[in-house]
Amino acid sequence: MSDEKKTLGTKTLGVKRTVEGKVQQQFSHGRKNTVVVERKKRRVLTKPGETPAPAPAEEAKEEGPAPAPAAPAPAPAPAAKKQSEADETLSRKERQEKLLREAEEARLAQLEESRRREDEAKKKQSEEEARRADENRKAEEEEKKAAEAEAEAEAAVEADIADPAEVEAAAKGLSRDADRPAPRAFTPVAKPKRDKKKKDEGSGGRRVVDDRKERSKLTVNRALRDGDRDPRARSLAALKRSREKDKEKRSHGADPSQPKKARDVVVPEAITVGELAKRMEEKGADLVKSLFKMGMAVTVNQTIDQDTAELLVEEFGHKIQRVSESDVELGIEGEEDKDEDLQSRPPVVTIMGHVDHGKTSLLDALRGTDVVAGESGGITQHIGAYQIETKDGSKLTFLDTPGHEAFTEMRARGANVTDIVVLVVAANDGIMPQTIEAINHTKAAGVPMIVAINKMDAEGADATNVRTRLLEHEVIVEEMSGDVQDVEISALKRTGLDDLLEKIELQAELLELKANPDRQAEGTVVEAKLDKGRGPVATILVSRGTLKTGDIFVVGAESGKVRAMIDDKGQQVKVAGPSVPVEVLGLSGVPSAGDPLTVVPDEARAREVAAYRADVIKRQRTTQAPTSVENMFSAMGEEAAIEFPVVIKADTQGSVEAIVGSLEKVSTDDIKVRVLHAGVGGITESDVTLASASNVPIIGFHVRGNAKAREIAKRDGVEMRFYDVIYDLIDEVKAEMAGELGPERIETVVGRAEVKEVFPAGKKDKAAGLLVTEGFIRKGLNTRLMRDDVIVSATVIASLRRFKDDVDEVRSGLECGVVLEDTNDVKAGDTLEVFEVEERERTL
Ligand code: GDP
Repeated sequence: MSDEKKTLGTKTLGVKRTVEGKVQQQFSHGRKNTVVVERKKRRVLTKPGETPAPAPAEEAKEEGPAPAPAAPAPAPAPAAKKQSEADETLSRKERQEKLLREAEEARLAQLEESRRREDEAKKKQSEEEARRADENRKAEEEEKKAAEAEAEAEAAVEADIADPAEVEAAAKGLSRDADRPAPRAFTPVAKPKRDKKKKDEGSGGRRVVDDRKERSKLTVNRALRDGDRDPRARSLAALKRSREKDKEKRSHGADPSQPKKARDVVVPEAITVGELAKRMEEKGADLVKSLFKMGMAVTVNQTIDQDTAELLVEEFGHKIQRVSESDVELGIEGEEDKDEDLQSRPPVVTIMGHVDHGKTSLLDALRGTDVVAGESGGITQHIGAYQIETKDGSKLTFLDTPGHEAFTEMRARGANVTDIVVLVVAANDGIMPQTIEAINHTKAAGVPMIVAINKMDAEGADATNVRTRLLEHEVIVEEMSGDVQDVEISALKRTGLDDLLEKIELQAELLELKANPDRQAEGTVVEAKLDKGRGPVATILVSRGTLKTGDIFVVGAESGKVRAMIDDKGQQVKVAGPSVPVEVLGLSGVPSAGDPLTVVPDEARAREVAAYRADVIKRQRTTQAPTSVENMFSAMGEEAAIEFPVVIKADTQGSVEAIVGSLEKVSTDDIKVRVLHAGVGGITESDVTLASASNVPIIGFHVRGNAKAREIAKRDGVEMRFYDVIYDLIDEVKAEMAGELGPERIETVVGRAEVKEVFPAGKKDKAAGLLVTEGFIRKGLNTRLMRDDVIVSATVIASLRRFKDDVDEVRSGLECGVVLEDTNDVKAGDTLEVFEVEERERTL
């Protein structure tokens, strides 16, 4: 069609121009005049000599038969014809002028109309766009429709003006200048659709011409006909209204029955209702409602499994995309670094040894060797690790949490942050139990060791003895021609420290420690605590990459954004590279020592991974925590020790470990402390829930419960105890445990009796007629009812009578009547064993 158009165009252009020129000169006050004149001239050309007929009528006549079936006769046509008849009487020039004036008026009206339409369309368009932005991607489909409708509306206008003009110009040599502004106003996107529409309707040109005429004269009619002719144009408004309704509905809560965009919802094996709602872009409350209908009473924060999630996802008309648990963490750890990206990094050193052999003193002494310490002007901060620079400019990082517990604890979490262990042995004390433990832990970790023989200044210092004794534990030092470096030092006198540092550096060199600093950071929590003023803080030892302020990360089961970083000298830093320890602010909660930190691209990802990990921890905890029934069984088992379960929350990881360790020590064969959960930070809702489920107390050390936790604790009767001194805590738990075990019960059987007969007593009770066969029975005493030597019930003598009189005691050989407490299961032939119980306070 467009080809045809072109051909026509080229053919007629020459003719058009020659004729047009004349008329344009006569009426040179606007482009529209030109058009009209063209039409008249066109007439003249077709039928020379004849009075030019009004343009519209001619147009209708001429264009009607050409490409498409006849359109309904447009209203202006007959009118124009009448006019032309009347015009017969006028002079040619007058007529021409009149016609031109009319045409001019028509054109002006038409132009105005087209402008109005254009404005309208523009307004609609901008409205549509604004709404699109507002309504998210949800209404994608609808938008498509809207865009279509919109485009079509545009096309209608555009076609009215641009295309017919083109066709006319081509066929009749008419200029379409008058109509030009309109097409320019429309977006080119609409054009392909317009073409399509033209194809569909046969001839856009003819239809449009009719339309144009109508528009200039019969607005109401046109509007009505528009509806008939092109329902899509009208549906734009309808669509707008329905969209408005939709929007309102959405803002008032999702309606599952409403057709909407089905989305693929990625669901891990466990997900909180809230998170699922977020992924489904539904309201959490609606999900909770649905779950409730399914018979599950859960809150938004509770975790549901994949199957339940699937039911929900489907109910809301979405599709589930199941991912396995590990998928959630997939890709969290970055790729392996290329060799060429690796740069050497400082070694991370841990000092271990027996208590009082001088670990702390050595850490302090080494810190004092830092050549840059004074320069920064910062004040030494104990953040769990520090870095020093030696005289030769190399850097060393020391973990200042001495002791193998911390080391092992970290290792147990898979955090092998230590590159080198310095084993401190006091020369005057020699190898002690914890020295051996430290050796074993170091060996287990496969970490090279350097032996620092300390207290060389002290009396009785015997380094050789230490070396020889180390042989027993397969630690062969260099002096014994082994490969373990050793060095004699005095932490107190600060001697041999340079030698030690040199040996550490040498060891580090051998290890070829490297990391890529130019990547997203990964690190390990060395220490974490809840700081009163700053919230949760964690000391992170960066293992690779560079941690920067503003980085978003996931750390253990917590997430966060690096708000600030403070180094071991108390200075704020913006970046921390490999082996640099920094205190990080901006965590969602307190992680545990040994937890890995990973920088992730966005907060959603951080939260997702953190939530997943929190869930894993929760599940582990709940599987560890025995249910009440299990508790009961373990207590019932004759052999099994009674467990004293507790939930412990403390301010630092160190306190947690100390408390757990001490409580383990107070456990005896009879009763054991069972730590259901121990963590750093204030007592939270989840702690209370856990404690409540297992009916255990919560022990808070230097921490208190938050408002929500206190509220639930009060409601569920969970006991919370707070301590500031660790010994008080231990003492009280000890006393509590003794109480838990109960006072010792010493039973003494005082009498036996035989049931002779049973008769009703009162409305529902039964009384038993007894013969006391042994000793005595007394009211209020405990008794066991036996049938064929099997205990039927253990109860109490509720009342005791002899010949209708209440008595307190009946001796052997006499008959009496008894009513037993809480049981009516008594039969003739049963026996009663009556016993006294003496309770004695127990001590642990
Ligand atoms: P830790 O328990 O291993 O941390 O040992 P500390 O560093 O607390 O030291 C225990 C005791 O040994 C303290 O009284 C120190 O003063 C003392 N001490 C540490 N190093 C030396 C040393 O090189 N020489 C002497 N004479 N005493 C030391």
